[in-house]
Amino acid sequence: MQKTLALVAHDHKKPDLIGWAKQHRAILARHKLVATGTTGGLLSDELALPVHRFKSGPLGGDQQIGALIAEGTLDALFFFWDPLNPAPHDPDVKALLRLCSVWNLPVACNEATADLMITSPLFEDSQHVRKLPDYGK
Ligand code: PGA
Repeated sequence: MQKTLALVAHDHKKPDLIGWAKQHRAILARHKLVATGTTGGLLSDELALPVHRFKSGPLGGDQQIGALIAEGTLDALFFFWDPLNPAPHDPDVKALLRLCSVWNLPVACNEATADLMITSPLFEDSQHVRKLPDYGK
């Protein structure tokens, strides 16, 4: 079953994400890809795959991806954020990661985790249903 996958990388992490995405291009190609603006431009150039580009992260792109999570239309996030350099949109970064926990969304914040997540037998298993928290109770 086709999933919607979001990819985001901070500037110093973009080479890592591009290298990782090339390695897993065959899997990524089976899914709908969305990304923050600059990351998305690089990914579509380097992978030659369609990538829906939201605004650049500091201009609201992280929040646009967060909105997909809140609406229930995103299936996983690959977010190579940079722990060594301050980001002007740090509150947006925190908000995005928070929503992943609120909605039990699979999120990989580094390459090692991204490798494990995308190669997991559950990743493309249509029988596997992510548990959605019920906040109505
Ligand atoms: P960018 O945004 O892909 O537009 O660089 C990433 C981010 O900083 O959140």
